[in-house]
Order: sequence, then C-alpha cells, then structure tokens
Amino acid sequence: MIHVDRSRVPIPPLLASATVAGERAQAATFFASNPGTATLKSGQRFQERYEWNWPLLQEVRPALVDLFQNKCAFCESFEGKRNPLEVGHFRPVTEIVEESTPGAKSASTSAARSSVGYWWLAYDWENLYLMCRACSERSV
Ligand SMILES: [Zn+2]
Repeated sequence: MIHVDRSRVPIPPLLASATVAGERAQAATFFASNPGTATLKSGQRFQERYEWNWPLLQEVRPALVDLFQNKCAFCESFEGKRNPLEVGHFRPVTEIVEESTPGAKSASTSAARSSVGYWWLAYDWENLYLMCRACSERSV
C-alpha cells in the first residue's frame, strides 16, 4: 500500500459542506433505528439498506488522484482504459456479511452473521482512497 502524506493535499471542501453534513445526519438516523448487528439465516440479507449518495464522492476524486499520484492506493497499478480507478473506502462502509462455515451441520451454525460497515466513516477523508476495481472488490 502506498504511504501518503495526507497533509500534502487539502481536504476537499465538500467533506465539510452542509450537503455532507446532511448526508451524515441522515445516515446516523437510519443506523440508529437499525441495529448494527443481526443474526440472519444463511442467504438472508437485510431488508432495508441505506441508499448512499455515492455520486457525491466523485467530487473528491481529483484530490485523491493528486494524493495517490494516479495509482491504486493498494496495488499501485496506474489508471488506464482497462483499469479505472475509483473512490473507495479503506474501512468498508456498506454491509459486511460473514458467511457461515461451509459444511456446518446444525441450524445454529448455518446462520450468517451480518453487520453494517463503518458507515460513520463514509465521508471521512482519512478513510477515502483511490483504488482499482480488483482492490475495491477485495476490500468490500
Ligand atoms: Zn489495486
């Protein structure tokens, strides 16, 4: 992983804007009424999912391109036609599902434990990275 000095690039003003403050408040309200963890039967997923306003984060992309010098923060591959780099989160913000152990016999062990991610870090500058699709899928 590329080690970067975050102080080199100013924090994008978007992250301190009223728009993002509104998004944060909305997410906090949603997750306050949806417990962070739940035990679900295998294959089941949360019925309600929070609709993140991800297009908003495109605004911080230029700052991340500058910070990571147009390279994936994890594998250091350069941006290219076949390797688009995206705004991603180091700590996953969306749902984390730990699948049950394959071959588990009893009903209790076949339940998958699911929890929401680090939603409060969705608009946290320290948690925003530039990453390629392969690394992005690995981190979700
Ligand atoms: Zn990568």
